[in-house]
Amino acid sequence: ATALRLVSVSKVYGTGQSAVTALDGVTLSLGAGTFTAVMGPSGSGKSTLLQCAAGLDRPDQGRVVVDGEEMTGGTEARLTKFRRQRVGFVFQQYNLLPTLTVAQNTALPLKLAGRRVDPERVREILTQVGLGDRLGHRPDQLSGGQCQRVAIARALVTEPGVIFADEPTGALDTRSARDVLRLLQRAVRVHGRTVVMVTHDPVAASYADTVLFLADGRLAGHLSAPTVDAVA
Ligand code: ADP
Ligand code: ADP
Repeated sequence: ATALRLVSVSKVYGTGQSAVTALDGVTLSLGAGTFTAVMGPSGSGKSTLLQCAAGLDRPDQGRVVVDGEEMTGGTEARLTKFRRQRVGFVFQQYNLLPTLTVAQNTALPLKLAGRRVDPERVREILTQVGLGDRLGHRPDQLSGGQCQRVAIARALVTEPGVIFADEPTGALDTRSARDVLRLLQRAVRVHGRTVVMVTHDPVAASYADTVLFLADGRLAGHLSAPTVDAVA
C-alpha cells in the first residue's frame, strides 16, 4: 500500500522579481512501512517538501495524498483535522510544551484529535522509548536525547499513517542521535509505521531504507540501501 503520494507538487515563495521556486513539480510515492531520508544542499527545498507533505503548509500546485486520502485543497479546518488524525511530527528542537509532564506531552495529540486518553497506552509507549520511569518529569528535567524520545512517543501515540521528522538528530550528541534513529527504525520495522526524515547527516540517512536527493526543488536521484542492516 502507498502511505504517501505527491503528484507534481510545486511551491513558490514571494511574487514577481523576488519569487523563489522552492519545489518544482515533485512527484513521489512511498510505500507503507518504509523509512525514507530526504537529503540535499541547504535551500534545495527539503523543509518545504516536508511542510507540504505533512499539511503544515499548502503547495501552490499538485496533490498530496496520505493513506489514500487527499490532503490538499479544502478548508484550513479540514487540513488541521486531517493533520491531527493522519500524521505525526518530530522536530529538531523537540517542540515539547514546557509546562506539561512527559505523559501529558505524549497524550496531547490524542486530546487534540478528540480521542480518549488511555493512561496505560501512554505508559506503554513511553516505556518503548525507554522513558517509562519519567512519566511525571517536565521537559527541563530531561536531557536532549530524552526530550526527543518523548517527541517520538508523541508522534507514535495516534498511530499515524506517516511520521515526518525534520532533522530529528540535529541537536543531539552521537549516542542520543543513534538512540533516536534506532527508535524511528524500530517504529518502521516492528510497528509498520512510515517515516520520512529530512537530514543533512549521512550517518542518520544510513538508517533509512531509501534516500531521496533534492536539488533546486526537484528530485535529483535516489539511493536504496541494501546494507542498511549492516549499518544498523
Ligand atoms: P532546505 O530545507 O533544503 O534548506 P527550504 O525548503 O528551507 O530548503 O527552502 C527552499 C527555498 O525556498 C530556499 O531558496 C529558501 O530561501 C526559500 N524559502 C523557504 N521558505 C521561505 C519563506 N517562508 N519565504 C521565502 N522563501 C522561502
Ligand atoms: P540521554 O542518553 O538520554 O541523552 P544522558 O546520558 O544525557 O541521557 O543523561 C543521563 C541522565 O542525566 C538522565 O537520566 C537525565 O535525567 C539527566 N540529565 C541529562 N541532562 C540533563 C539536563 N540538562 N537537566 C536535567 N537532567 C539531565
